[in-house]
Amino acid sequence: VTEELGAAGSEVLATLNRVFGYEAFRGPQEEIIEHVVAGGDALVLMPTGGGKSLCYQIPALVRPGTGVVVSPLIALMQDQVDALRALGVRAGFVNSTQDFDERRTVEAEFLAGELDLLYLAPERLRLDSTLDLLSRGKISVFAIDEAHCVSQWGHDFRPDYLGLSLLGERWPDVPRIALTATATRATHEEITQRLNLPAARHFVASFDRPNIQYRIVPKADPRKQLLAFLREEHPGDAGIVYCLSRNSVERTAEFLTANGIEAVPYHAGLDAGTRAAHQSRFLREDGLVVVATIAFGMGIDKPDVRFVAHLDLPKSIEGYYQETGRAGRDGLPSTAWMAYGLNDVVQQRKLIQSGEGDEAFRRRAAAHLDAMLALCETARCRRGQLLAYFGQEPGATGCGNCDTCLTPPETWDGTVAAQKVLSTVVRLQRERGQKFGALQIVDILLGKRTAKVIQFDHDQLSVFGIGQDLEEGEWRGAIRQLLAQGLLAVEGEYGTLVLTEASGSVLRGEREVPLRKEPKRPAAARSRSAG
Ligand code: ADP
Ligand code: ZN
Repeated sequence: VTEELGAAGSEVLATLNRVFGYEAFRGPQEEIIEHVVAGGDALVLMPTGGGKSLCYQIPALVRPGTGVVVSPLIALMQDQVDALRALGVRAGFVNSTQDFDERRTVEAEFLAGELDLLYLAPERLRLDSTLDLLSRGKISVFAIDEAHCVSQWGHDFRPDYLGLSLLGERWPDVPRIALTATATRATHEEITQRLNLPAARHFVASFDRPNIQYRIVPKADPRKQLLAFLREEHPGDAGIVYCLSRNSVERTAEFLTANGIEAVPYHAGLDAGTRAAHQSRFLREDGLVVVATIAFGMGIDKPDVRFVAHLDLPKSIEGYYQETGRAGRDGLPSTAWMAYGLNDVVQQRKLIQSGEGDEAFRRRAAAHLDAMLALCETARCRRGQLLAYFGQEPGATGCGNCDTCLTPPETWDGTVAAQKVLSTVVRLQRERGQKFGALQIVDILLGKRTAKVIQFDHDQLSVFGIGQDLEEGEWRGAIRQLLAQGLLAVEGEYGTLVLTEASGSVLRGEREVPLRKEPKRPAAARSRSAG
């Protein structure tokens, strides 16, 4: 690997071709790299998967000395270094997972000028011994990855990042490049200030993927809906279908195959050989559909993926954006299609509550889910909402290439409906000391004398049958939206419904509750287990 200094674009491009095997730069990569190679500081805001790594890896290769990469992702360092070594790049890392000898070896390589890249965890830079070591070697560039960790307001705050401002004081001649994927404008400014990068040039890659059409439809019979979508819009196209569970991955792949669409499953429960075979078929063949859990897709670079379909709700907008972003890398029209329903909300809330992690982790997970739900329930442009989430200014008018722009959803005043739902929950709890899930609430509202209604005497409640003005699907839609708006909550392993602090204002008639209209669908397509 070359170590000659030469800011010429040709050398930068040659490194991209020769070392990484890519033909051309993406988005603002080239501009960023040339700026840093020439010695300038940079702040790079780029979506996940946008190609941030090359922005510091190539300067580290082109400039003399070792590129020092500060990253909080200790668990990934070994993989990152292995991947670089496989490309012939001399990379190493120093972190707490190493024993003394391993660390000594890497340090010796650094001092001998035998490393192109050295990955460090931020806490190492607190140590005088580390700073000492760095002072005795030659550094080509400092890269500060996940730079938003310096923001005290973000959920990834790392106190050790605050100490990184000293890099500029101690090594004024070494260019610094800070990179992040999840920065709002405020975080942006915080990074500049706290990392002491006043002269850094800002590079903001757009998060927009204009060739992807975003669509989110109400879930009724998801596999049949998927089949219709594929037959009508993507016959013979390659694509990815994401499901939450291994079981539903298997069944969906079988269902598609039985219906004449070639599909293979992919999830972590399959043996490595099968997974590799299915992945390589997907990359090689035309028009294969992979049905997968989120285990599939990382690092997959297939340009002609024409659709990404979600049969279950992703946990966050970051996840949704990353997964849908695998569609249409070639820039041709592609579809991000998702079926989403009440059960998704209940299930995800249950997962958060019963999952591991402390209270703070749960709160974060809930906030991520809330943002995802808001995207699902919005009556505004989906792309606008996505871009706004990533701190990008959405256009004044809609994008014209998402479902809400193409067929604006109707809204209705759901205040009374919301009051009926909430009163039913209240009565069950106050009068009976009981909590139930959405299905039972809907049956009570509709006045259905099901076995479970009779068993619990729910036909004796004053709210029994007060909801016959709406259909079952409309009630499910209303409950789903109340959950999404935080006016109702899910509790415990059975997913029972409970009030939230905000519920009171609805019950007291202090606020209106606008709801999106549920598209009417034929009775046959309605099913109790979904939607
Ligand atoms: P980020 O760190 O922004 O999430 P990565 O640096 O991991 O993104 O890059 C995402 C993927 O895109 C990687 O597989 C990477 O090899 C690939 N990639 C990056 N730049 C290019 C390029 N110019 N051409 C082709 N592939 C690229
Ligand atoms: Zn739009």
